[in-house]
Amino acid sequence: MDFDQLAQFLADLGEPHFRARQVWEWMYKRYVSDFDAMSNLPKALRTKLADIATVAPLTLVTEVVSRDRDTFKALFQLPDGQTIEAVLMLYDERRTLCISSQAGCAMGCTFCATAQGGLARNLTPGEIVAQVLYFARYLADPALPPDTAAERPTTVTNIVLMGMGEPLHNYANVWKALRRLTDVDAFGLGARHITLSTVGLAPMIDRMADEGLQIGLAVSLHAPNDDLRTQLVPVNKGYPVDEVLAAVRRYVAKTNRRVTFEYALMAGINDAPELAHALAEKLHGILCHVNLIPLNPIPNSPFQPTSDEETEHFAQILRKAGIPTTVRLRRGIEINAGCGQLRRAASIAASQ
Ligand code: SAH
Repeated sequence: MDFDQLAQFLADLGEPHFRARQVWEWMYKRYVSDFDAMSNLPKALRTKLADIATVAPLTLVTEVVSRDRDTFKALFQLPDGQTIEAVLMLYDERRTLCISSQAGCAMGCTFCATAQGGLARNLTPGEIVAQVLYFARYLADPALPPDTAAERPTTVTNIVLMGMGEPLHNYANVWKALRRLTDVDAFGLGARHITLSTVGLAPMIDRMADEGLQIGLAVSLHAPNDDLRTQLVPVNKGYPVDEVLAAVRRYVAKTNRRVTFEYALMAGINDAPELAHALAEKLHGILCHVNLIPLNPIPNSPFQPTSDEETEHFAQILRKAGIPTTVRLRRGIEINAGCGQLRRAASIAASQ
């Protein structure tokens, strides 16, 4: 529910107007996980609310922590039994949370584990927001995790919509969630601290540019030409490279924000030096940055990651051509928490 829906819901129960603000603050400022903790609500109301509603729609199924204790992956069950994953990464000053926008994904990228199970359903705005509240609660809890307490950050500082699903394929719900996460009266994170990654649904990129929120945009490109990109990212048939890049140019013109292009390097597939030159040419003149992702291993896949040397060579070609390029730090690979490794129910078995 957004605030107005909550206000109506409580009004229908015969509650005074100020109750909605009270419940809202317990949820979004204090991150409580049940009505019973809302101590300024009458006991009878707390009991009634617990019977008919919830403020924490995600049930933790498994949680896995990386060896370095800097990456946490949670598998959640939704009220209808579907499952999703979210990943928290601790950096020096950032606590970046990677969240899912759909249970599964319909885009079919051939190198991505999420694609293998297909799409089950869209997440609701509440289920998207609840992933953030879960980890905000986790980071704020003085009791957890005990051995890192001294340096433990106490809030989520960055959010990336790079988990399961294609966020622009669940546009309305994702944007309701983004409004809630950036609203100063709700979670209140600055839009500049949030990045949405898309496979490149061009018309939706245009729609995003008109929202008036400074959300960062990342586009999963992975190839500079249509033949190759269609093999890796099948939706390229509908939105070819030039169309996606044209939408990105319009996005930059409207928002003045630097766009990120993601490029997962696969040995012998899309990592040839000629392709780096072709990519540099395609991106010429766009306010952008390329993020190279060494391919993460996924089950039943013929693709292998590019070697470190060849990755660096690819990066150098782009940099020499004037395209700022970084190689993404791989995190949580051994717990299958890396890019493209998130899955639905199957991951219960995989992560145990
Ligand atoms: N659907 C959105 C959000 C997913 S973000 C999108 O396509 O952008 C996940 C990122 O990881 C995307 O850039 C995706 O292409 C990339 N990815 C998928 N599988 C991967 C793998 N096995 N190794 C590395 N990156 C991968």
